[in-house]
Amino acid sequence: MKLSEVKNSEIVVITKVLGHGSFRKRNSEMGFVKGKEVKVIKSAPFNGPFEFKIINYNVSLRKSEADLIEVVPLRDFIKAKSENYQGVIDRDIHLIDQSERTKIINIALVGNPNSGKTTLFNFISGSKEKVGNYSGVTVDIKKATFKTKGYTFNFYDLPGTYSLTAYSKEEIFVREFIYEQTPDIVINVLDATNLERNLFLTTQLIDMDVRIVAALNMYDELEKKDLFFDKDELSKLLGIPFVPTISSKGIGLDNLIDKVIDVFEGKEQITRHVHINYGKDIENAISIVRQKIKENRPITDKISSRFISIKLLEKDEQVASLLSHYENYDEIKRTTQKEIHKIEILENEESETVITNAKYSFITGALKETFKDNSQSEKTRSEKIDSVLTHPVLGFPIFSSILFLIFYATFTLGAYPMDWIDKGSCCIW
Ligand code: GDP
Ligand code: MG
Repeated sequence: MKLSEVKNSEIVVITKVLGHGSFRKRNSEMGFVKGKEVKVIKSAPFNGPFEFKIINYNVSLRKSEADLIEVVPLRDFIKAKSENYQGVIDRDIHLIDQSERTKIINIALVGNPNSGKTTLFNFISGSKEKVGNYSGVTVDIKKATFKTKGYTFNFYDLPGTYSLTAYSKEEIFVREFIYEQTPDIVINVLDATNLERNLFLTTQLIDMDVRIVAALNMYDELEKKDLFFDKDELSKLLGIPFVPTISSKGIGLDNLIDKVIDVFEGKEQITRHVHINYGKDIENAISIVRQKIKENRPITDKISSRFISIKLLEKDEQVASLLSHYENYDEIKRTTQKEIHKIEILENEESETVITNAKYSFITGALKETFKDNSQSEKTRSEKIDSVLTHPVLGFPIFSSILFLIFYATFTLGAYPMDWIDKGSCCIW
């Protein structure tokens, strides 16, 4: 149940705070965290603000904010026996989270085409409870529901995309799914043998400020290569846990589920929200545009204002249309155009290209420190032969020697069989 649906004076317990990271952070600072009791003081009619009592003080929230907080009635919580605990305990620890609602994890699988999402989805959902098409959408996606490790998992296999721009219906679908359905965790499935390409999408998910677990899929292919890869360092740089997986064999999927649970429960140390630094000019533009849209709720409760700003600077019409009913829309448009113009003058390039290049430079930098593929620099046998035969100094003498050998073989060694043929023919005649 949503907090916005609770009746006056009812007491409920928070089970989940949806939305992106900074929305959750702002709410958690006010005390809206999992396990806390909330009493509804009054709900105003016509989508007006709600008033709640939480940790003994009154807070008001807009309907759009209360919509993103999931709760269960207090009676659904089973009180734990306090003698199980030693030392001083917070009163909220008494509320052991036995309710089914708190243990549901909604997961979206996001990744490039052919990164192995469907294979992972099929393996994980395997003989499990329920798999079906997710209805009412224009693109083909599948949903699987199953229980394991004390949790109910809803897995959504989303269409493959290289990016989250508005160029294709798949891309629009994936990003809308993320901000409309607010999955608890996004599993970013990466083809580990092609990290540079695959991490591009990851940078966009990071901009969206969602909780991510990365599956380093095709790890078997990666291990065949001669390479240096410090995945833990890359994890730290991106603030995302990386789990090696071989989906086609089901290897690593158990660890992946464990990681998802850790991130969901806020126990994962690696998880943090990083701001990918796109360089002084772009960062400047982002912060100026962001100032103009920051207060435009409810949209910024659902979608990170940084992501919106970046998309506006990339001239994304679809994101712009989400803001069109806000009072300061014209001002946002003017500011964005001014900033786009500044970037384009400075870089002599379309703003989208400037941002794409900045993303790739970030990826190249991150991989430079953590990844080296020695097998790529190793020459193949024919390349090795070529490098000797076409050598600027040795090439010509080698070529002359080979020609000489051919002449020698033809005229000197060839003389013997010619002799035998001559002798043979004279005897026959
Ligand atoms: P999707 O487009 O992301 O859904 O990718 P698919 O699940 O259709 O996988 C693409 C191809 O990669 C298929 O041929 C899979 O069998 C193969 N594949 C998936 N995971 C792995 C893996 O971990 N290792 C290897 N070697 N192949 C895999
Ligand atoms: Mg697929």
